[in-house]
Amino acid sequence: MRLVVEGASRAFGGVWAVRDVSLTVEPGELRAVIGPNGAGKSTLFALIGGQLAADHGRVRFDGDPVERLPAHRRARRGVSVVFQAARVFHGMTVLENVMVGAHATTRSGFLAAALRLPAHRRDEREIRTAAMVCLERTGLADWAGRAAEELPLGRQRSLQLARALCARPRLLLLDEPASGLRAAERERLAGLITGLRAEGLTILLVEHDVAFVMRLADRVTVLDLGRVIAEGTPAEVRARPEVVAAYLGP
Ligand code: ADP
Ligand code: MG
Repeated sequence: MRLVVEGASRAFGGVWAVRDVSLTVEPGELRAVIGPNGAGKSTLFALIGGQLAADHGRVRFDGDPVERLPAHRRARRGVSVVFQAARVFHGMTVLENVMVGAHATTRSGFLAAALRLPAHRRDEREIRTAAMVCLERTGLADWAGRAAEELPLGRQRSLQLARALCARPRLLLLDEPASGLRAAERERLAGLITGLRAEGLTILLVEHDVAFVMRLADRVTVLDLGRVIAEGTPAEVRARPEVVAAYLGP
């Protein structure tokens, strides 16, 4: 999917969290968004996913304006956001958590599934199979029957990603997916993200570990105080003095 953000702005209590941000992410691109704490990265993701409404500006998915659509309708257009503070659903197994993601995209939907409507049963088998594939991709197949809340934190992050993938997004936004992960888990995540990109998924990635994003990203957008202060390839961005000053350090 091609993502275009034009002049997006959002204030909280009179303070701009995101101010006049424009960016274009080409289909199949992996775009990193970096910047210090409070720069507006998570807010920007919410403006794209529809969890927050913009005060000004446009968001286009493959040319269509979506800024007036609520989050669930943007999800149906193919966007999937994994937020920093995303939680797994308690009282459900790991597999059920992922099946919720898949149900979001089927015609009968999650409500029909929850009510166990007869029309839904054929979908059910397909969804279970698809959910297992998502668990395998994220290294969680062996945990499928466990209660989601019993997973260690790193595995919960993987589960959030599995759930997002199961909605079969064309645009995937990952907000600090490597936070709380150990080195080996980070490597596995990097491999998974690289694989998703190779399949043509458009990805936006927020991550504090600059080495991690610079290695993966095609292009990097740098935010500071809600504004874009630099954009380019990892090498270009690394060489910009204002980026070093605002974020990367000497
Ligand atoms: P980042 O993800 O880059 O750390 P955020 O988008 O979370 O930054 O926050 C940007 C700014 O907006 C910060 O100053 C933050 O305090 C403020 N902010 C974010 N969300 C809210 C909210 N729901 N209510 C009030 N202020 C918020
Ligand atoms: Mg954030």
